[in-house]
Formats: sequence, C-alpha cells, structure tokens
Amino acid sequence: MDSLIKDKLSRNFEYLRISVTDRCNFRCSYCMPSDIFNKDYRYISQDKILSYEEIIDTCSVLKKIGLKKIRITGGEPLLRKNIDKLIYKLKEEVMIDNISITTNGSLLTENKISLLKESGLDSITLSLDTLDENKISSINGTKKNISFTPILENIEKYFNQIKTNTVVIKGINDNEVIDFVNLLAKFHAEIRFIEYMDVGESNKWDLDKVVSSASLREKISKHYNLVPIQTDCSSTAKKWSIKNTKSSIGFISSITEPFCADCNRARLSVDGKLFTCLFASDGFDIKSLIRSDDYEKKLLDFFKDVWTERSDQYSQIRFISKKEVPKVEMSYIGG
Ligand code: SAM
Ligand code: SF4
Ligand code: SF4
Repeated sequence: MDSLIKDKLSRNFEYLRISVTDRCNFRCSYCMPSDIFNKDYRYISQDKILSYEEIIDTCSVLKKIGLKKIRITGGEPLLRKNIDKLIYKLKEEVMIDNISITTNGSLLTENKISLLKESGLDSITLSLDTLDENKISSINGTKKNISFTPILENIEKYFNQIKTNTVVIKGINDNEVIDFVNLLAKFHAEIRFIEYMDVGESNKWDLDKVVSSASLREKISKHYNLVPIQTDCSSTAKKWSIKNTKSSIGFISSITEPFCADCNRARLSVDGKLFTCLFASDGFDIKSLIRSDDYEKKLLDFFKDVWTERSDQYSQIRFISKKEVPKVEMSYIGG
C-alpha cells in the first residue's frame, strides 16, 4: 500500500460512498420531492454513468491509499442491474474489507437478499420512515405500500443483523419513534435515527422540522434502559445498546452535534465526480482520468492532491458561514 494520506484537518481517508444511480422509484419529500423530480427532471444520461468496471478500477486505485470501507447507495441502488456482480468484484478482486448498501427496500425480495449475501455484501441498511400503513405512500411519495416485516425477517435471516435508517421529521413521523424501537428491538437491529439535513436545494429544509437526537434519546429513555456504547471516532452515529435486547440505537446528529472532525469519507457520484463533502456544490471529475491511458498513476496523484487540500467541515460551520452556494442533491451524490 502507498502511504496513507491526511487532509488539512488531519483526517485519514478510509471510506467511499458510491452512488450507482441518481434515479429512484420513491419520491421522499426530504430527498426527491415529486414537484421537482417529475417527468421533466433531467437525470444523468447513460453515457455519463460510470460502468461497474470503472468503479472497480477507481476502488482498486483508492485501496492503495487507505480505502477499507464502501457503501453502495444512490438514488435507489437496487434499480441498477446486477449490483451483486459489482459487490462480488469489489469484495473478491479489490478485497475491500467492508461493503454495505443503503436501500429503500422496495426491491428486496428474499431471493435478492440471498444473492446479495452470496456476493459478499457485509450489511444492508434499510431506510424506514414510517410503520403506519396509512402514511407510507405520503412519505415515500408513491402509491407503493410496502410490508416491511418480511423484509426485516429476511435481512436478519441472511445477514444476522438488521440496520435501519429513519429520518425523523417534526410533525411527520416523530410520533412513531417508540413504535420503531418496539418493533426493531425484537430483532437483532442497529436502529439509526437521523436528524433531517439541509442536503441539496429541493427539499425546502426548515430547521423547525428538525428533531434533535438529544430529545429523541430522552423520549426513548423513558421506555428503555439505554447503555452508551464506545464507538470508533469516525462513526457518524453515537450509539446506545438497549438493555435486555440484542439491539442498539444510533443517533446521527449532523445538525445538533456535527462530526466533521472525524470525517474520513469521500463520495463518488453516479457520473464519476469525487466529492469530499455531502454539502459540496461541485465535485472533481475523475471519470475523464479513469477513461484515459495510464489512469492508475493519474488518479492516484489526483486523489492525493484533492485529499491533502481538503478542509471541508460544512456541518460544523453551518450556522456561522456566510457562504451561500447551491448544494448538490442527495439522490445524485448518494446519502
Ligand atoms: N434510496 C436509498 C434509501 O433511501 O435507502 C439510498 C439513497 S438515500 C439518499 C440514503 C439515505 O439518505 C436514506 O437513508 C435517506 O433516508 C437519507 N436521506 C435522504 N435525504 C435526507 C435528508 N434530507 N436528511 C437526512 N437523511 C436523508
Ligand atoms: Fe429515493 Fe432514498 Fe431519496 Fe427516498 S431517500 S427518494 S428512497 S433516494
Ligand atoms: Fe463530512 Fe462534510 Fe458531513 Fe462534515 S459536513 S461530516 S465534512 S460530509
């Protein structure tokens, strides 16, 4: 391995989140509101999308300077065909230590879950924003009504553990937090509650809609005995185990307790742009490098330059920075 690199705030690079598509079959209002992501919305065209071979080549180069962990995301990553083949190659050929996927679950049949396990995937994170059947379609913006219990059972059956993401929004699903814990604590689950973030420009984010992790923890503590778990410092979630269960709760508090100081991640967009922050306005084009001769050295040198110059800490300075630049959408950069 080449030497590990540090950015201007002494942060290592270890983790890459890869958006494999900017398309989705849901229209969650906090991510892809249907008035903007409608039939006229211009998605990335096919010729601009990184192929699996190009993703694999990119990861092979980045492994030389520290890449250990990958999350496949999107848009809805399971819309991309043969995603298990990409995972298999990243695991077997590139030998990435840990590969996970975040999905809305709509395409997670038992066969798909079993195929993903066979491909070498380490874990599935299921995004779950409501358990109330009457609210599902208004939250995910579609007519689809998904039954989550069989999906949860199958994830546990094949992966032994379930991970969930819930974006908690005031007046929308904050009244369901205890219901989530009641259901998920019956499984072996890592339940993650995410503060609603000001990603992109489409979701009309409003600070008043954010429910702080501290208030959620206080609420849950009235029902469950929570015991703090020591987490490695680059983890975005602060975790608590739920006493007398196999489950734990993680709180991702980008708004009220930013974790930029330990941010070890880069993001690769569907069209091959490298982002060093979720809240950036543009990325660095690496697709042209990966499509050129002698790409390995070019990409390695380029990435080292980008990372060593990196000083992003958007969440840390969110409320004091005067800089107003448009941010890229979550569905494009990957969550
Ligand atoms: N479509 C997949 C899914 O929903 O799981 C993967 C992509 S989605 C962009 C990844 C994660 O980002 C999801 O768990 C979603 O809830 C979260 N997310 C999207 N917009 C968000 C926002 N404004 N604030 C916080 N989390 C958000
Ligand atoms: Fe689609 Fe995921 Fe965004 Fe919802 S959060 S619109 S499922 S990409
Ligand atoms: Fe990392 Fe940017 Fe998020 Fe801070 S705001 S944790 S630098 S992605």
